[in-house]
Amino acid sequence: MLKEFIQLIYPDFCSGCSQPLLFSERAICSSCLMEVKSSFISNSQTFFGRTAVNREIYAFKFFKNKLLQKMIYEMKYNGNKDTAFVLGVELGFLLKDIYKSKNQDVDFIIPVPVSEIKKQKRGYNQCEHIANGVSQIIKKPVLANRLKRRNNLRSQVNNSRYKRWSNVESQYYLEGNFNGNPRLLLVDDVVTTGATINSCIKALQAETNQLISVAALAGNK
Ligand SMILES: [Zn+2]
Repeated sequence: MLKEFIQLIYPDFCSGCSQPLLFSERAICSSCLMEVKSSFISNSQTFFGRTAVNREIYAFKFFKNKLLQKMIYEMKYNGNKDTAFVLGVELGFLLKDIYKSKNQDVDFIIPVPVSEIKKQKRGYNQCEHIANGVSQIIKKPVLANRLKRRNNLRSQVNNSRYKRWSNVESQYYLEGNFNGNPRLLLVDDVVTTGATINSCIKALQAETNQLISVAALAGNK
């Protein structure tokens, strides 16, 4: 009752088509969710740069899907955390199926971090909300504060692709150690060059050889 009343004053809109959401919908309307789900893929390429990973999974093809591009924009730049969570849930279902069919599992979910400066500016890390959605389905805990990103004050806009890659190289570090060798699932929003993932994996593997798989909402490979 109260929620319905609040929605009349501040209706929630779909982050895909911008239409008002039904009471039962969250962040994405059911027809947009159906549409992005139809582009579900999973791929199992195993290298980022020269760093081997156990498995690489994307939920959606990014660059051919305008609707998903809009949702990701909303989630990154318009503070739409719920969209990140809902898409994370979809990614979770995909992972659950894959783990079941391959008889695999993970122990912890690690979101790709943003720097503290960026987090304060934006108010949140969207990868953390995607990871929370994944966690809801695969029932594994999210470790949000172990992998960290340094504050980077230099703008990367004018750098060449190569320079950007090497700048990203030393951006990430691990706080503390893991006990034993837990299997880690690294969760990102969109994988473009792979430089970020590459650097995160290096940081995670600084102490021991962790078994790492990578999942993202979308990638351009
Ligand atoms: Zn919609």
